[in-house]
Amino acid sequence: MPELPEVETIARGVNARVRGDRIIEAWFGSHREPFKTSPARQAKGLVERRIHSVHRTGKHIVVELGPQIDRGARSEIEIAAQWIVHLGMTGRLLVSTPDAPLAKHTHARVRLESGHELRFVDPRRFGRLEFRDLTKAKMFGGPGAEPLTIEGQEFAKLFRGRKLAIKAALLNQKLLAGVGNIYADESLFRAGLRPRKRAGKLTKQELEALRKALKDVLEHAIRLGGSSVSDYVDADGARGFFQLEHYVYQRAGEPCRSCGTEIKRIVVAGRSTHYCAKCQH
Ligand SMILES: [Zn+2]
Repeated sequence: MPELPEVETIARGVNARVRGDRIIEAWFGSHREPFKTSPARQAKGLVERRIHSVHRTGKHIVVELGPQIDRGARSEIEIAAQWIVHLGMTGRLLVSTPDAPLAKHTHARVRLESGHELRFVDPRRFGRLEFRDLTKAKMFGGPGAEPLTIEGQEFAKLFRGRKLAIKAALLNQKLLAGVGNIYADESLFRAGLRPRKRAGKLTKQELEALRKALKDVLEHAIRLGGSSVSDYVDADGARGFFQLEHYVYQRAGEPCRSCGTEIKRIVVAGRSTHYCAKCQH
């Protein structure tokens, strides 16, 4: 399952390749699952629009689009529609040349003026494609705050009075968007906090340490991932995302990299959780 840093890396890579390009034609497959909006509506909605930018919101890739050029739009500058891609478990968004062999499980092909094609490939079909016409629907945005940009006060407010474990709170997508299991465990280790601690009991200092740790871990992963962007967007879409050097995640029974104590594994909010009993309080 692609985590936030991977989605960010993919969005940046795709953005660098297709920003400013224009959609000429769109083709969609016949499997129903990947389409939150019907394939016919997506195909009709996408064509003749300029791609303003591609960015990440939570774990979604959002393609910002201008108005349809042939519908008498006055300006191409405004953002008039969005194509929202969720990769699910096995989804990939590729920028290909049209002659690149079509991967098995390709559910969407979007042909661009430059000759490039955006392709959505997803063997298990847990991914989702959605089209939004912003003259009729609201701009896409999940309920959760962005962990990379949230400020200290706002971050603290998310957890105030909450009785659930801090690990569970970090994973709650209604509070923070896109934080997965790896980054929750790793940021709690870096902040020196036990995963089962009640979210509402954390002090201002602890919350600030956690906010910074989470941001650092995510940014570090994005920096490392940047070098493997091409692996995501080349013709055959070979995967090659780096592995962050984990301190605790999936290291149960191994010595803590900081103090040598054996890393413990527990279950919090139904998720496998790893921590060092000496470094985390
Ligand atoms: Zn330790």
